[in-house]
Amino acid sequence: MADGKSVIVYGAGVSGRGAAEVLARHGWQVFLYNDSECTIANELQQALAAQGGALVCGGFEKLLGFAGLLVLSPGVPCDNENVLLAEQKGLEVISEVELAYRNYGGHIAAITGTNGKTTTTSIVGEMFKKLPVPSAVGGNIGFALSKEVEPLNDEAWLAAELSSFQLEKVVSFAPDIAVVLNLTPDHLERHYTMEAYGGAKKKIFTKQTAEQVTILNYDDGEVRSWAQESKGQICFFSRIFPLEQGVFIQDNNFVVKWKDVEAIVCAVDDVHLFGGHNEENILAAIACGFFAGVSIADMAEVLRNFKAVEHRLEYVTTIKGVKYYNDSKATNTDSAIKALQAFKNGHVILLAGGYDKMTELTPMMEVVREKTDLLILLGNAKERFYEVAVACGVENIQIAGSFEDAVERAYAAAAEPQVVLLSPACSSYDMFKNYPERGQRFKDLVMELAKR
Ligand code: ADP
Repeated sequence: MADGKSVIVYGAGVSGRGAAEVLARHGWQVFLYNDSECTIANELQQALAAQGGALVCGGFEKLLGFAGLLVLSPGVPCDNENVLLAEQKGLEVISEVELAYRNYGGHIAAITGTNGKTTTTSIVGEMFKKLPVPSAVGGNIGFALSKEVEPLNDEAWLAAELSSFQLEKVVSFAPDIAVVLNLTPDHLERHYTMEAYGGAKKKIFTKQTAEQVTILNYDDGEVRSWAQESKGQICFFSRIFPLEQGVFIQDNNFVVKWKDVEAIVCAVDDVHLFGGHNEENILAAIACGFFAGVSIADMAEVLRNFKAVEHRLEYVTTIKGVKYYNDSKATNTDSAIKALQAFKNGHVILLAGGYDKMTELTPMMEVVREKTDLLILLGNAKERFYEVAVACGVENIQIAGSFEDAVERAYAAAAEPQVVLLSPACSSYDMFKNYPERGQRFKDLVMELAKR
């Protein structure tokens, strides 16, 4: 990183603060800019001031004469008027991921997709710990990439979770391994069209060269078709088709078949993570581990020990033979459908509802009818959920007066072989700060019931 230069870091969130800290440490004069009033830690404030920089809230134009580079946080859209203005004035605009990439000489496995990023990245991060080199996990998962790469050397492996927002403004980014898990409509308020949303995701592999690897989901028609657009080697994964070459499920085993290698990693049933969607995440993770040089035995060990990421089909406990699962991260109907489908034998007591996103409910309620013995509705979505559930033929429905009442009702009704699942298909804002707080409350209530 060149010393003695000025930069604007746009957005004082996790990524922006991380980038600002790293840049200041390398002698840059950093203006950490935020549209609205905010505060940063004293330490960071002092580090910025030591290089002649500062936190600036509002009044963007006055910064324009000072810097040649603008580092964009993922929360800020590329068509933000200040960003457009900066581009017009000739500033180079790059994302925080690009900044991290420019300052890192080691290896990267970068993971994107509409769903499953955190789960896959977490598994890959565990696999990388088995390598005899340093490793780290970062990106959308909650740590600024530019900060995570700082202590790593050229031998290291980084597992990077990347959202479409983070990929919009990459320039030269070319990871050793790029993964696209899936693509379904999302974030259209920012990207406007599926083409633009897909286009941002494709940037994960568009700068790759022939020595690098692009891992694509064969079972997702759109993602599969992207193979033509990558110059990297294509490795498909599939949970449905035994591929000629790739990573797939065969005879209930996870299998790698690549050139002269053919190996069973482990049985599907050996892994705690369950559900078709998680099988896809595991396949993608195996492909990453394989190309990064993690041994088959080490990958098997990681998979056998890996528990669900918190709030994602997370097993809580068993009470009187009934298992309780926390899937508070399911803030939309697609996720709730995936969770229900993961219970092959049905008999689910489902707790759903919360802050209503007003999306189409019929596809979900059809799965609810098939998979649940009892539907318990809560939150401000409960009336609309009730109407659609009844229209779809769901028979056993209760309306809870509060979150606590919903858990109590599930407990009172549940008996073997049923399972109790919190998979709300709604945001949590009507009752909680965020989905982790909702999931934690659920777990606390369940653990209290377990003591009765
Ligand atoms: P992300 O980081 O992309 O939001 P997570 O791993 O946090 O993904 O999973 C979030 C939710 O998305 C899960 O609770 C599950 O409902 C759903 N999900 C996870 N993996 C997949 C997948 N491969 N395909 C479809 N849905 C998935």
